[in-house]
Amino acid sequence: MENIFDYSFDELKGLLTPSFRAKQVWNWLYIHYEDDFSMMINLPKEIRNKLKEQFSAKNLDIANVALSKDGTKKYLFLTHDNHTFESVLLKMKDKEFDEDGNIKSQERFTICISSQIGCKIGCKFCCTGKNGFTRNLSAGEIVEQVVAIKKDNNIAPEKCVNIVYMGMGEPLDNFDNLIKAIKIISHIDGLSISPRRQTISTSGISPMINVLGNLDLGVQLAISLHAVNDITRNKLMPINKIYNINSIIDSVRSFPIDARKRVMFEYLMIKDINDSIDNAKDLLKLLDGIKAKVNLILFNPFEGSNFERPDLENAKKFADYLYSKGLICTIRESKGIDIDAACGQLKYKNKK
Ligand code: SAH
Ligand code: SF4
Repeated sequence: MENIFDYSFDELKGLLTPSFRAKQVWNWLYIHYEDDFSMMINLPKEIRNKLKEQFSAKNLDIANVALSKDGTKKYLFLTHDNHTFESVLLKMKDKEFDEDGNIKSQERFTICISSQIGCKIGCKFCCTGKNGFTRNLSAGEIVEQVVAIKKDNNIAPEKCVNIVYMGMGEPLDNFDNLIKAIKIISHIDGLSISPRRQTISTSGISPMINVLGNLDLGVQLAISLHAVNDITRNKLMPINKIYNINSIIDSVRSFPIDARKRVMFEYLMIKDINDSIDNAKDLLKLLDGIKAKVNLILFNPFEGSNFERPDLENAKKFADYLYSKGLICTIRESKGIDIDAACGQLKYKNKK
């Protein structure tokens, strides 16, 4: 059985005659979140049967959902070959009402999706990295996470949703499937989530950042920097021995950035490793001349991790310093900390 979400719009069009049938199928899949071909009632029976024979529109099962007090929902998905991986739904903003009870602004969602089962990069602070690599997700499995989560939460098709590729895996290490997924997710006849609303987070595989930049898709870029010198970064992220900080910064400088946007630098703060004001000063120098914003993340401990979470006060000082020098800097709220929402942590908890 093939995964229907692996098919681009044009590929499906090539398969169905007349070709407007592809539009109808996509409407069912991406607007109505319909996973049963027999229910696609505006299609002739023979097309429904043909689709049913060849494809499945439900390739992921929800194995577990953990709901956090702050509204963050963490999904554990089960694949057809019996592997699990995670995605997270974050509610960034609640619905707001005016004094008369009318809706003033809609809620905003961000869906954090995985690109691989496990990860080859092996960062020392990361639960996924510590547990090795199983396999790439197909383009369809990347796309289906969005559909399944929108469906499970009754999120209307026209609702504003952002996608961040910050779940399990290194997206640029599964490049072709990633690009195909971005194109399917942004297609106007489907989910229609613009590339501007999709952020690729990478551990810094600089040659692939260049390739991504040359495609000029309009996606946002986030760099998991986490350290300001190669000695520290080598220790935290072995990949840095191959693509060091300078090579990453060079790739970022040539990356096409939307006029109104910035490249996000994620900085995972670990107590006594990279959280001093001297580190903040070096960070400022490193990002000089780049349209950057910094997102500080407080290390989320997990069983067997050898690092400590820094004090919030320390993080605030770090952020205040950068801010006082004109660098936009936020501290990522620890959304879902009560449900082990950092990458890989639910999967391995469930395994025990
Ligand atoms: N592989 C890509 C995308 C997935 S990781 C990347 O590394 O950018 C997404 C984010 O989760 C990374 O910024 C990573 O630093 C963060 N992360 C990993 N382990 C964490 C932990 N224990 N606590 C907090 N954040 C963590
Ligand atoms: Fe892989 Fe990202 Fe985890 Fe590093 S932080 S091991 S690149 S998922």
